Amino acid sequence: MTTMEAKFRMILRDRSAVYIPGYAVDTFVGMSSEGYAVCKEGRMQWGLTNCCGASAKGSMGAIVCRNCCEEIDPMLGGDIDVAAG
Ligand SMILES: [Zn+2]
Repeated sequence: MTTMEAKFRMILRDRSAVYIPGYAVDTFVGMSSEGYAVCKEGRMQWGLTNCCGASAKGSMGAIVCRNCCEEIDPMLGGDIDVAAG
């Protein structure tokens, strides 16, 4: 997967804007305190990478972006929560 989908502009409660990929719009729930877009579906909750708006995956001991395979913040591969407020 190398082609990026169109990004959608979401307005947050504090009126700042965030751009997330179209496929993530339905599951987007807010921003984490680290500034990552957070998606949730059922009991699954995950952050999107800043580079591609993709989810994280583990690769040879590192956490990488599922789209471009660049190494990313390891916290994106773990539990992530929407910032309070
Ligand atoms: Zn990426």
